[in-house]
Amino acid sequence: MSAKKFVFDLDGTLYKASETIEKLVDRAVVSFFKNKLQIDEKDAVELIKNLRERYYYDADALGKEYPFSKQEFLEYICDVDVSTLPQDLELNAVLHNLPNEKYIITDSTKKHVTDVLSQIKVDKELFKEIFDGHDMKYSFKCTGVGFNRFLQKYGLSASECIVFEDNGDNLQAAKKLGFITVGIGDKISAANTQFCDYIYHDTKEAILSVRTIFCD
Ligand SMILES: [Mg+2]
Repeated sequence: MSAKKFVFDLDGTLYKASETIEKLVDRAVVSFFKNKLQIDEKDAVELIKNLRERYYYDADALGKEYPFSKQEFLEYICDVDVSTLPQDLELNAVLHNLPNEKYIITDSTKKHVTDVLSQIKVDKELFKEIFDGHDMKYSFKCTGVGFNRFLQKYGLSASECIVFEDNGDNLQAAKKLGFITVGIGDKISAANTQFCDYIYHDTKEAILSVRTIFCD
């Protein structure tokens, strides 16, 4: 059996979910539409509320309802201040001690990954590849397409990859494709726990436990 690949989500997985960061991203979405459509804040908030009732991702409306570039949108909304995130030297050490190939797969951008890793003091060089929303061509993880494009790009099979992820819908998509799934944190719905092979509260604990199951 070849060595398992460890595939990590970024936000809410390599650092604990941060309301501050989520609010900054939400604010950036409002500001994107406000600036592009030259509308006021209240109308932009209303418009986004409406979009979110109809689309899983705001980006899905682009190209259909608005002639704005998904690339530009993603870059804009992911360019947020991450300086409130705490350092995690212990996570860095745990990852350094893990010999398996490590990847990051995120719906966000490589710039956001670089900003976060630099802030939390986890070495970017630990990861063989970073696969982002642009690489997914904006068909994100929850649809399964993002995960499939990841496998294709690096010539991997789902069964050799262990996905660490805090989003239940993403875990469901990964499990259906045959990945080994590790749910992180406490926001995975009851309906989605069935798609998790393992669930842990904390990523470091998850890595150490999963390592003993698959590697040692
Ligand atoms: Mg996440």
